Amino acid sequence: MDDLSEEMRMPTPCPECGNHRVRLSEVRNPDDKVFCSSCNTFRGLYSELQQELQEKPKSNAEALIEKAVNQKGKRSDP
Ligand SMILES: [Zn+2]
Repeated sequence: MDDLSEEMRMPTPCPECGNHRVRLSEVRNPDDKVFCSSCNTFRGLYSELQQELQEKPKSNAEALIEKAVNQKGKRSDP
């Protein structure tokens, strides 16, 4: 069965393991805690990460990767 959790790619890496991906719960409340998808380090609140995604300056390549990964995360096919 599908895992209810989803992943999202952040512009900043995890301070512990360097992974850019974070795990989101199905219910995306602004005050949901978001954790690294690899080592489960706390990365911040969902609202904070959303703000970071919008404000963090990044290269076009990084933006494209994020867009691709974050869109793909909404579906379960490979
Ligand atoms: Zn990590």
